[in-house]
Amino acid sequence: MTKFIAGNWKMNGSFVESKALVEALCDPILSEGVDVCLCPPFVYLATVSQMDKPANFSIGGQDCSYHGGFGAFTGEICAPMLKDAGCDYVILGHSERRQNHCESNAAVARKAEYAHGSGLVTIICVGETLDEREAGLQNSVVILQLMESIPSTASGSNLIIAYEPVWAIGTGKSATISDVEDMHGVIRRFVKEKLDNPDSIRILYGGSVKPENAADILSIENVDGALVGGASLKADQFLAIIAAAK
Ligand code: PEP
Repeated sequence: MTKFIAGNWKMNGSFVESKALVEALCDPILSEGVDVCLCPPFVYLATVSQMDKPANFSIGGQDCSYHGGFGAFTGEICAPMLKDAGCDYVILGHSERRQNHCESNAAVARKAEYAHGSGLVTIICVGETLDEREAGLQNSVVILQLMESIPSTASGSNLIIAYEPVWAIGTGKSATISDVEDMHGVIRRFVKEKLDNPDSIRILYGGSVKPENAADILSIENVDGALVGGASLKADQFLAIIAAAK
């Protein structure tokens, strides 16, 4: 399966910086053979999607509304708007949304259902906290998140799962190779049992992926790519991670 490297810019970058980052990243030779997805803040989506990019580059939103269509929902962005702005993907259930915006598994599933209805591929994030891992609960926590966050509309053609242990996000401390291997095995078994066309579902790892650890992480069985936060904001670092995915 072609590796998939997504950059979650979160709430970073000015308009000028965002354009410069895309220009620096869009090297067709450096990125050849890897599917790359850029996820800028909402306000930069249309601009980034209209810039010249190699065919293996796509655009994703970082979230979408719990409401499916247009209406009186001040401040919200619905899935059809993401599609209209040039997105093919949307990240849902990121731990920062689950923690800071009290997003439940049910809310993630409802957003995903609307996103699928709009033709978007959902990148659904799951992952345990440090307390949960220390209590040995990581597998049950992640399986419950998968069961409740993935709607019945999901299949191999519209679902990517990102395993992001919360304690590894933005901390510089990535999970060990064996932690990643074990959890990706658990997730692969889950999709095989529960979903249609499971072999085409990519399972990404996210959590302090950087040029120094990318090759090791991306060579683990059942790791089909990476969701990258901090290192996606620096062109040289993100390109090095893409190179490691080749
Ligand atoms: C993320 O926020 O999805 C993430 C993986 O961040 P970082 O790479 O900075 O840990």
